[in-house]
Amino acid sequence: MKRVFNFSAGPSVLPLPVLEKAAAEMYDVNGTGQSAMEISHRANDFMPIIEKAENLLRELMGIPVNYKVLFLQGGASLQFSMVPMNIANYAGAGKKAAYIDTGVWAEKAAKEAAKFTAVDVRAGSKDRSYTYIPAAPAAESDDAYYHITLNNTIVGTRWAEIPDTGSTPLVADISSCALSEPLDVSKFGILYAGAQKNLGPAGVTIVVIREDLIGHAPPQTPAMLRYDIHAQEGSLYNTPPCYGIYMVGLVLEWLRNLGGIPAIAGLNQEKAALFYQYLESSKLFYSPVEKPFRSLMNIPFIVKLEDPQKRTELEKRFIQEAAAAGLVNLAGHRLVGGMRASIYNAMPIEGVQALIQFMEKFESN
Ligand code: PMP
Repeated sequence: MKRVFNFSAGPSVLPLPVLEKAAAEMYDVNGTGQSAMEISHRANDFMPIIEKAENLLRELMGIPVNYKVLFLQGGASLQFSMVPMNIANYAGAGKKAAYIDTGVWAEKAAKEAAKFTAVDVRAGSKDRSYTYIPAAPAAESDDAYYHITLNNTIVGTRWAEIPDTGSTPLVADISSCALSEPLDVSKFGILYAGAQKNLGPAGVTIVVIREDLIGHAPPQTPAMLRYDIHAQEGSLYNTPPCYGIYMVGLVLEWLRNLGGIPAIAGLNQEKAALFYQYLESSKLFYSPVEKPFRSLMNIPFIVKLEDPQKRTELEKRFIQEAAAAGLVNLAGHRLVGGMRASIYNAMPIEGVQALIQFMEKFESN
């Protein structure tokens, strides 16, 4: 078996024990004589699978009882639309929604919301290429909700402090940092994430929503896009991504056995510190992100060369040689170029050490 160190931003590395368990259970899960892929979502045999995923998520994230957990489809991108479609009318019409523009995904979320409600982009960091997180202006009395992107996958920034929006529901895209460090769920109205980074395979989207925010969609809202329908039906309004939900359960079980969020947060701090320390000391590579806002999950880095053409050539060579050495998917997002190491929960510290060793060698050559 060949395994590489996979630094992809998503879909991304999954814990090997999870893949091994999934392989061992491929033909017969829980003694049912069926693969988790073959079981009807209406069958009793599916119930332990979806309940396991939900219960572990509740336990690990400390989700309060007045929140629903939904397993949906359409990725985080569909939540860019579902959030405004469902809660722009929360507590009365004629309101606006506040968005903080901290990167491409945040900007997309705001653009999508503007199709359904008035959007006020209250602050942003585009002026310095999104390399920092701006101060969060206060919520206003006619904000229906307040949206942030907790970790910005492309530029590699993270909100180190959660803004206090008072009674205005705070909505956060946690796609690239879910379960990476402690998060006080009670500070949020809605949390959403595509699973394909820290939670499992692509195809499942997780939504954690406070109950009082459910039930405000206008009547013409399609059934598939209504939180109330999915909540009433326990995420079984239609066929859910059954196998993906099963995989999320296995990933969460792995995380619990490791010691849960406190344990993984410690490891994530250690991995990120190691890599940023190396970047600080390097004469060839550097992090473009301002220090207080650096992500623990996605670490972009660039070559220190003035000439853009030489820089791009060297970066290309780096990415190719790294891949040949078993360190794959290190190219930065196509919009920003450079390199990026995504070091999600499932990336072992050995992967970060191997990357640093390779970079040191490349630098000395
Ligand atoms: N938000 C963030 C922060 C992301 O990183 C991504 C995908 N990389 C998305 C949203 C879009 O997610 P999806 O592809 O699941 O729609």
